[in-house]
Amino acid sequence: MEKKTHVALGNLVSLAYLQPISVSGLMITIGSATLGSILPDVDLKDSTTDKIFDRIITSFITVIIVGVFVNYFFNINIYHKIKEFSNVYNYILCIVVFSIMSYMGSKTHHRSFTHSILGLFIYSFILSYGFNKSVVVPFFMAYLSHILIDLLNKKGLTLFYPIKKRFCFDLCDSHGTVNNFLFTLFSFLITVTLIVISF
Ligand SMILES: [Zn+2]
Repeated sequence: MEKKTHVALGNLVSLAYLQPISVSGLMITIGSATLGSILPDVDLKDSTTDKIFDRIITSFITVIIVGVFVNYFFNINIYHKIKEFSNVYNYILCIVVFSIMSYMGSKTHHRSFTHSILGLFIYSFILSYGFNKSVVVPFFMAYLSHILIDLLNKKGLTLFYPIKKRFCFDLCDSHGTVNNFLFTLFSFLITVTLIVISF
C-alpha cells in the first residue's frame, strides 16, 4: 500500500487502542505510530538509500521538534512521560542502534526483513531499550498493521524471514482504487476515534 494509507491505518489502530486523553499522550502516540507505519518501507528502492535513510532521521527530528514545541507551549513535562528512567545513555544508544538498523534495513530486498515478524520484534525491542511502552506500543501496532495490510497486495512478503517463502492474499494492487478507498476510510475512522476520545 501507499505511505499515506499505512500512516492512516497505523494511527487509527494506535489511537483506537490507546485512546490518549492528554495532549502529550496524543503527540507521542501519533509520532510513534507514524514512525512504525513508514519504517518497513525503508527497503523501497524507488529512491536512493541515502534519501530513504534521511526519511527516518527526518522522522526522528520531526518528532523531537514537535515534542519540544508541545512541551514549551503546553507547559507539560513530555520527557518524563516518555522516559520512565532518566538514563540518557540508554536513550542515545537506542537512537544510534535504531538508526543503524534502519540503514541496514534499507539495504535489504523490498518486502523481506523489514516486512517480517523478525524485523517487527527487533525494531520494537531496540526502541524499548530507550523508551517506555507509551512509545513502543503504538510503534509496534503501526508496524504490525503495515505488514498485515501489505499482505493484501500481489507482491508477497517474506513474513518468516530468513525463510524465503513469500506470503500474500493477492487481493488488490498497492496503488489504485482499493488503496485510495482504504485511505479515505481510515482517515474518516481516525476523525471518529478522535471525536469519541475527546468526549
Ligand atoms: Zn510495505
